[in-house]
Amino acid sequence: MLAARIHELGGPEVFRVEEAPDPVPGPHDLLVAVRATSINHRDVWQRRGHPHPTYRVEFPAILGIDLCADVVETGAEVDGFAAGDRVTISPYIPCGRCENCRRSRPQYCTAFDVFHGTYAELAVIPSALAVPVSAAVPDADVASFSNTYITAWQMLNGKAEVGPDDTVFVWAGTSGLGSAAIEIARLFGAKVVTSVGSEAKRELVSRLQPDLIVNHYEEDICELVAEFTDGRGATIVFEHVGQASWERSMQMCAAGGTIVSAGATTGDRAEMDVTFMFARQLRILGSRLGTMDDALSAARHLEAGAFKPLIAETITLQEIAEGHRMMEEFAPAGKIIVSVSGS
Ligand SMILES: [Zn+2]
Repeated sequence: MLAARIHELGGPEVFRVEEAPDPVPGPHDLLVAVRATSINHRDVWQRRGHPHPTYRVEFPAILGIDLCADVVETGAEVDGFAAGDRVTISPYIPCGRCENCRRSRPQYCTAFDVFHGTYAELAVIPSALAVPVSAAVPDADVASFSNTYITAWQMLNGKAEVGPDDTVFVWAGTSGLGSAAIEIARLFGAKVVTSVGSEAKRELVSRLQPDLIVNHYEEDICELVAEFTDGRGATIVFEHVGQASWERSMQMCAAGGTIVSAGATTGDRAEMDVTFMFARQLRILGSRLGTMDDALSAARHLEAGAFKPLIAETITLQEIAEGHRMMEEFAPAGKIIVSVSGS
């Protein structure tokens, strides 16, 4: 099969699109033909070599955690899937053995792993991670789903418990995670304020119908959030930007409100006024990916047409290095889809 592999850590130039051995499914696995995948910041961190253990890979490595695929073959022990089924994946792999897993709290697993291996024509996925999706959903929408929608679902529903009384502030509304958050917050009846970095992006994000769009480079966004909420502030701040946004996230958060974070695309080190935090009784919640429960729930809304991911670009597997460059240099408006064998 053709695969985009890396044999060392480094810049986008380390990708080699080359012939690799076809993967062989074990008794509990599915062999799938990849129709499309997409590029996530996680893939970029893995390629560069992020120090956190869940980013580690063995060489040669096939990156990629998003997936739109057709089942080609099922392992001998697999129930519930058959050749021809269309699937995506829930890439979070709880260990099943730690205290939290044993207490049915897999989202807090202390030894989780994350699946990767979809930048290829074929992939083997554990059937326990496979999520069925109707063939009626476009390939690009399915390929945009796993990392962004499952993560945003766990953040907003699982962690922040979003509801119709909330005003959710979503940083970078045209990013993959940001746009997913806007759609999920609206689905739960919340009001949504989102930020963009350019006027072109304002136009694009208006398709997702947030209640207010602000420019995080040019406007006093904390002031605008205060005005929009009659001085209260956002009850939930959806964080994935980190260093560049953290102080404003704190400032705009309502008393007793929640900052929920699953990313730090601008850097890990943020300033924080601890007294401000406890005086306003803010809740700061960390989140990682999402559970199979999140995946199955969010996938039903994907099938029902509630989610229309923003797509920035569609590239081929051969163009993967260029796709990674775009991801690092231009903060693309929407997902970069990698079309492998799909339409
Ligand atoms: Zn565990």
